[in-house]
Amino acid sequence: MVRFDCTMCGRCCHGLRLPLSLAEAVGWLRDGHEVQLFCEAIPWPSEPSDDNLPAMHKRRRSFEAVSGSLPIRVIVTLMASFDGPCPNLLPDKRCGIYDRRPATCRIYPAEVNPFIALDPRAKLCPPEAWEGETPIIADDGRWANADLASTIVCSRDADAYDAALKPQLCAMLGCATAALSNEGMVIHSPSREALLAALNATLGADGDRFPGDDRSWQLVTNRQPTHDALVEIGASHASPAGVAVAGLDYLGYFAADLV
Ligand code: SF4
Ligand code: SF4
Repeated sequence: MVRFDCTMCGRCCHGLRLPLSLAEAVGWLRDGHEVQLFCEAIPWPSEPSDDNLPAMHKRRRSFEAVSGSLPIRVIVTLMASFDGPCPNLLPDKRCGIYDRRPATCRIYPAEVNPFIALDPRAKLCPPEAWEGETPIIADDGRWANADLASTIVCSRDADAYDAALKPQLCAMLGCATAALSNEGMVIHSPSREALLAALNATLGADGDRFPGDDRSWQLVTNRQPTHDALVEIGASHASPAGVAVAGLDYLGYFAADLV
């Protein structure tokens, strides 16, 4: 059993990468803040079985594409990033957009990913938030609060709904470069105006009319063994230095050894 009550310390509103739905990103951009696209790709040579639940979870929040001759699935996350306080954080630590704050903020410190258990040690909340006779947030692996459980389900559904629209968004923005999943992210930083226009067009469009995107995605790695494996399986590939000239950033999770 996990007990929790927010102390309003404001720690979770500082130094964040905050995932946003497409609709939330429109609001964030209209408020004058920046949003980037974090792109990762998973080699997907064959369909997993229905009982492979982690793979089905990834499938639901990704879209189908190719890299060279390799079938892949691409996960694109719209992200608001800030080093200090969130631009919406008020001096008294209240949220300035509380009624329309992103689902990620509504859910914290619970987990959206059904395969990650809530671990207070991994959260920014102070010890007193988890102590004493505070309300029960999770019990026996289930969320104890109905509103929280419903917000998590809605967030997952929005993620899946958005995934179907992201091929069109990426095509409009010219995005077709991704890191290999679990190794890093490629970060696209379109202008606020270009992203807002692409989002409005994507959200307002009749999805059935999108003709599809048959571009080959370029996979980026900073690791020599991964690079060699990508060559072996016929993927289109590039190094971080190679995509930097196109204004893209690579965020690697491992030390670089690619020369
Ligand atoms: S939107 Fe509000 S709740 Fe979310 S990080 Fe910013 S200030 Fe905090
Ligand atoms: S870090 Fe935890 S306790 Fe502090 S404001 Fe965020 S949710 Fe509340």
